[in-house]
Amino acid sequence: MTNALLRVVGLRVRFAAGRGASVHALDGVDLELREGEALGVVGESGCGKSTLVRAILQLVRPTSGTVVWLGRALDEMPARELRSARRDLQIVFQDPLASLDPRMTVGEIVAEPLRIHRPDLNAEARRREVHQMLARVGLPPDAAARYPHQFSGGQCQRIGIARAMILRPKLLVCDEPVSALDVSVQAQIIELLHDLKRECGTALLFVSHNLAVVRRLCERLLVLYLGRMMELGPTDAIYADPRHPYTRALLEAIPVPDPDVQPARLSHVLPGEPPSPLSPPSGCVFRTRCPHAVEVCARQVPSWETDSAGRGIACVRWREIGPESA
Ligand code: SF4
Repeated sequence: MTNALLRVVGLRVRFAAGRGASVHALDGVDLELREGEALGVVGESGCGKSTLVRAILQLVRPTSGTVVWLGRALDEMPARELRSARRDLQIVFQDPLASLDPRMTVGEIVAEPLRIHRPDLNAEARRREVHQMLARVGLPPDAAARYPHQFSGGQCQRIGIARAMILRPKLLVCDEPVSALDVSVQAQIIELLHDLKRECGTALLFVSHNLAVVRRLCERLLVLYLGRMMELGPTDAIYADPRHPYTRALLEAIPVPDPDVQPARLSHVLPGEPPSPLSPPSGCVFRTRCPHAVEVCARQVPSWETDSAGRGIACVRWREIGPESA
């Protein structure tokens, strides 16, 4: 049994929106991530995925709830301890070029975490580590002396991954890391992350709106909608038998190349946009788009229920909505 690296308990984030209004960005998220495990977080734009990442990394202050890293609440850590915890908590951003300092060479960018967190290494040892890591992520030997703007988007993301992985962190947080890349380049980056995770034993918290990408990388899956948890469980089980109506809709929406199958799948895709997080619907926040909504869904916030295999679902009707009625 592996230990919990990260525990998120009752995390809520609200942003003031003027005139007493507030945006419900995240509403009661509980999760656990174990060593070496990969957890995918999916949902449409505005579902709270990026807020969750920022709150975990302490880049936004939660309204309530706790983030526990290796048994210690991050918001209670003194600044020095938090800095040292960050060594094991690295992030890869969505926009590869924007996340790299244009005034630094690639070698300097990748060496920066070593300079901060490995003062025991001299310049030559740092240079060796950087060259090994650049080669590992598939960049040419002369990359270290060049600048970020001289590389393609996919190569810039490789640089970002090299910087994040140079310290062999315990957790790599990936915030939509391939959504700005061409499809063929996306596949290469996903394979690189997959291999690095296996080689280094790094846990992944992988945020994406692309369920196909998440399936390749993540053993477990969390589905968010309007800041709330809809379903959480093993990825394969959720793909084989999605229980929450929103999860089903997301899976139905994955494009498939077969033209005979595609229309039937696409007809299940949800109509419309999610409601505004400024005034989420009463009861179940998904009810305004749910094909299974009944009167009780407007009155009652679904409680988090767990099935016999440990999968969590927030839907008052999940037991009666079988796969055949989807
Ligand atoms: S609680 Fe009701 S509205 Fe919400 S997902 Fe379940 S059936 Fe749909």
